[in-house]
Amino acid sequence: MKNILSILVLFLFAANSISQTKLDSILPLRGLCIAAPTIKEVDAFTDFINKELAPRQVNTLILRVDFNYQYNSRPELRDAIALSREEVKKIVAACKKNNIRLIPQINLLGHQSWAKQTHNLLRVYPELDETPHVKMPDVYKWPNADSLYCKSYCPLHPKVHDIVFPMVDEICEVFESTAFHAGMDEVFYIGDPKCPRCGGKDKAVLFAGEVKAIRDHLAASGKELWIWGDRLLDGELTGLGMWEASKNNTHPAIDLIPKDVMICDWHYERADKTAVYFAMKGFNVATCPWRNPSLAVQQLNDMIDFRNESTPEMKQRFRGMIQTVWSGAGNFMKEFAEDKPGNSASNTFREMFNEIEKKKH
Ligand SMILES: [Zn+2]
Repeated sequence: MKNILSILVLFLFAANSISQTKLDSILPLRGLCIAAPTIKEVDAFTDFINKELAPRQVNTLILRVDFNYQYNSRPELRDAIALSREEVKKIVAACKKNNIRLIPQINLLGHQSWAKQTHNLLRVYPELDETPHVKMPDVYKWPNADSLYCKSYCPLHPKVHDIVFPMVDEICEVFESTAFHAGMDEVFYIGDPKCPRCGGKDKAVLFAGEVKAIRDHLAASGKELWIWGDRLLDGELTGLGMWEASKNNTHPAIDLIPKDVMICDWHYERADKTAVYFAMKGFNVATCPWRNPSLAVQQLNDMIDFRNESTPEMKQRFRGMIQTVWSGAGNFMKEFAEDKPGNSASNTFREMFNEIEKKKH
């Protein structure tokens, strides 16, 4: 009896390995991008990793950490309440156990403020602000006279990398990661005419210079840089607009940045085929949906088609899919548990991974 059980266990293990291998060949990257949990949410989040991510064979987790960590290198930039090393290690352990690649994110360059709130970097170091003349409003509304969406730091400020790179190194060390996500989406303030360093300079060159500086810093210790793709697409020519593509002349940077930068190509309104553009430029790319389940399934099927209908050179660049979540981790887990019908990030996650599951059979 014991022998029969052993054989059965071995058989199930082997069958699982075969389906895992098959899935890896169909869709190598199966990811989730979400805010890092708060301290109170850490245990529920590690449960979520074990019970929801692992069975779906999610193999990549991008966690938006920003200032939610008790940095020793930059204690002045910590949030008032921030994750400790021990709490991060709980997440690291859950990911290791389930073979999930963990990639921390700190928004670099753009997204240094939100609505009327300046984030920690520019609050502590206001001299890094690309547009110090733009005052934060008491009541934020979009559009506004300053075209203020989010503040940026000045990529040419002589101090900026000395301040942010130690945080990048520390977060990669504690998360034991081999890649770092720098955000870099929706950068509207760049090359401001009033900036004494950037004024008059080519915005694509400025953007590419910052990507390369971060990439080179990471590459020196064998790590990859991941970024959102929107600043590399021509929003005017393609009709993709100023959010998911660039209308501020950063898009020629696609020909100026190193090819080993991983592109997270987000589109939330249509199944745009921009992954092909990135792959043809030599980049590894993942398509990133948000809250429309049927669109995400279409994007998934496109990604699989791109892989199937490409040369070996191109095929390997179509990496897979990353579900993006723009609420906090706690809210997402609650929404997922409630399981209400309709368009939402949790339903998109559920339906896209149901579709991925079907591909194995
Ligand atoms: Zn500047």
